[in-house]
Amino acid sequence: RPLRPGPPELQMRDIFIAIKTTQAFHHSRLELLLDTWVSRTREQTFVFTDSPDESIQERLGPHLVVTNCSAEHSHPALSCKMAAEFDAFLASGLRWFCHVDDDNYVNPRALLQLLATFSPAHNVYVGRPSLNRPIHASEPQPRNRTRLVQFWFATGGAGFCINRKLALKMAPWASGPRFVDTSALIRLPDDCTVGYIVECKLGGRLQPSPLFHSHLETLQLLGVAQLPEQVTLSYGVFEGKLNVIKLPGPFSPEEDPSRFRSLHCLLFPDTPWCPQLVAR
Ligand code: UDP
Ligand code: MN
Repeated sequence: RPLRPGPPELQMRDIFIAIKTTQAFHHSRLELLLDTWVSRTREQTFVFTDSPDESIQERLGPHLVVTNCSAEHSHPALSCKMAAEFDAFLASGLRWFCHVDDDNYVNPRALLQLLATFSPAHNVYVGRPSLNRPIHASEPQPRNRTRLVQFWFATGGAGFCINRKLALKMAPWASGPRFVDTSALIRLPDDCTVGYIVECKLGGRLQPSPLFHSHLETLQLLGVAQLPEQVTLSYGVFEGKLNVIKLPGPFSPEEDPSRFRSLHCLLFPDTPWCPQLVAR
């Protein structure tokens, strides 16, 4: 047995969770998250948005971060929020940075279980690969030349995590104004930029995980028994139809179109607004 103890066991309070949102989704999306999973991760969850909001501020206090980023759906505006998330993580001193969108459900137990499998001595970037092949980008070089690069990246819409060891190495391309600059350089969105920095600048690799989910996949295919093991889930509209996880209840599709309230009751049945099981 080694005499020297290893790093302390990972706990929920070691994880920094950043949610990206925008004014238009404060009511329609964010409140659902605050009612459900964020109620179980409040201390380590921070919401990054573009506009002040009194009623959200009341619920989140300093965990609502109003950035100076513009409220538009452009690469620079979205990268600006990712940069704010990354900087806040670096300043937090915590061991893991996890990014999610405002249409993701995060299962804190599954997240902790996954992240605890990695050694803090390794560089870790874990998430769902966006494509089944690496993406290509052209990287500007001196004297008007370009270099073709390719790399894997995790879909931002499924969530991804990076450990502190790797995040510190990313800082020269990702901290302060540099994340937006890097994103502009390769002219790709924020999630691609993270993959580019990890793989092309640092020689790291995306660790693929099937436990992260976006609404770009058919969420119906997950069985009810598999749901508690998933780290993230999502909902959305695909080809005019609602793309959601399949759960019989307790809430109807009309009451709970995203299925997140029903999922939350499956995972946390002691929640006051979940129908309580009656002892017989
Ligand atoms: N978003 C944003 N500003 C915008 C539009 C979207 O910050 O102008 C955020 C949104 O809150 C979400 C993420 O970007 O966290 C992805 O947006 P959405 O789910 O609408 O689009 P998708 O890319 O999934 O189709
Ligand atoms: Mn989405």
